[in-house]
Order: sequence, then C-alpha cells, then structure tokens
Amino acid sequence: MVAIALDIGATKFAAGIADSDGSVRDVRRVPVPETGVWAACRGLLEEVASDAEVTAVGIGSAGPVDVPSGVTGPLNIPEWAAGFRIVDAVQKLFPQAAIRFAIDGVCLVLAEQRLGAARGVSNVLALTVSSGVGGGVISDGRVVMGRTGNGGHIGHIIVPGNEEPCACGGFGCLEAVASGKSSVRWARRHGWEGETGVELAAAAHADDPIALETMARAGTALGTAIASAAALLDTDLVVVGGGFAQSGEPLWKPLREAAAAHARLTFLRELRVVPSELTDQATLAGAALLATQPA
Ligand SMILES: [Zn+2]
Repeated sequence: MVAIALDIGATKFAAGIADSDGSVRDVRRVPVPETGVWAACRGLLEEVASDAEVTAVGIGSAGPVDVPSGVTGPLNIPEWAAGFRIVDAVQKLFPQAAIRFAIDGVCLVLAEQRLGAARGVSNVLALTVSSGVGGGVISDGRVVMGRTGNGGHIGHIIVPGNEEPCACGGFGCLEAVASGKSSVRWARRHGWEGETGVELAAAAHADDPIALETMARAGTALGTAIASAAALLDTDLVVVGGGFAQSGEPLWKPLREAAAAHARLTFLRELRVVPSELTDQATLAGAALLATQPA
C-alpha cells in the first residue's frame, strides 16, 4: 500500500511515493507536453504506483484551481487552461484511493511550516518565484484555502507603477513584473540577449547593467507586495522559494529594502523575509503531507 504525491507544474509533472513526514521517494518527472497532457500525467502516476495498491494521492497544482469541483486550470498549460477535472481523472485511475487536491501555494506553505523555514509558526506567508509567482498563507495556524482553493494567490496582486499585461487577463500583476519569465522578457526588451532566469542571475552577478536593473525591478515589486500582504495578514515571517528566488543578492537586496521601506507599522517592525529551505521539492513535499494526513 502506497500514497502518491503529484506536483503539477507549469512545465513538468513530478510524482513519487509519499511518506507521512513529507519525504517523497522514487521521484520521477516528465515534461508537460503541448497535447496529450493527461496521458503524460497518467503514465507518470502508473509508473510511480507500479503494481502497488494506492491508498491516497495528494495533488498540488499550479493555479488557478477550483478545489470544490476538483478542477485545475493552470494558465501555463494551454490544454488544461479552461479547466481539467483532475480529481475525477485520478480517482478513475485509482478507484480505492483518497484524493486530496490543493493549489501549489497551499502545498508550499504546508511544507514550509512542517519542514522548512517556518517550522512551528502560526502566521506565515510563503511565496514561490519561478516561471510564475504563487503563494500560500497560514493564518492563526490554519491554511487559508479561500472560497475556491485559490487563497494566497499573491502573484496577481497589483504592484504600483506597472501596467505589464498579465496572463490572467489583467495587468500590473506581481507575476507579470517579477517572475523569472517576465523578468527575462523585460530584460530582452531592453537589450539583454540571454534566454533564462538562471542566465539573467549570472549576468546580474557579473554586473551587467540591464540584468541588474531587471533584478532591482523584480525585487522591488516582490518586496512591495510582501509588505502589503504582511500588513493585511499581520504576519512577521515570509518565506520565498522557487528557482528565480535563488538569484542571490541582486534580487534579494532590493526585495529586502522595498519590504523594509513599506513595512513601517509597529506590528511589522520584526518582519523577516527569508529564503525557502526546501528548494524545488516544496510542492511535492506539501502534496505528500496532504496525501498522508489523517482522513
Ligand atoms: Zn495577473
């Protein structure tokens, strides 16, 4: 008997055997194809399950989601963007299993609070900054799900002074300004010639002026949004993970400065913004915790 954790990311699926301490064994990954997305996901789940009896599946998905309906609709997976009934599909594959489904931000904050930089903390905001910007909130010890399971979706709060169009249909969203993908796009528009967030970070460390300006722009937007959210939530701990958050001081210095400049109320004076300790396994670890939680 096994429990499975599944991470539905923008560009890849990851799945493995979940343990109740949030660790995940035998992790396998497949890229998300342009078409036949469910077939790829199903293949991965079957491979991970092998012939074992599956008792539970914890699913963490890129958003937006509709948790009460069991529907996922990641903006970055075109074939699913209008909505895919992921819970029904996984249930059909493993009829005996309990299926637990949450947005990746909820998985992230669960993992940070149980295993990461927010261990034992009752009020915390966790963000992931990679191809998109996501997040999750634990408030007074409880995960904030919201009405449809999208609570904590900080990537679509608005940052001042920006009118960048966003994949959500709006404009000026944090994700449209500060994600790795958006930052690469902005830098290229201003004459930088690299392709990826990793290259952009390397260029910033090598003092490329456009790369430094891009990082400052992203870091300031993140810090501003973090200060706003911290005031709203009355939290003094914010954990930031995701690939692009590993860009080091060119991103973190302006981020911390913007957060400090805006978080001035007495209850925000101790606001700490710290890097995630969970690297790229956070969603999977959170999905493992979902899968193995008592019914
Ligand atoms: Zn948006």
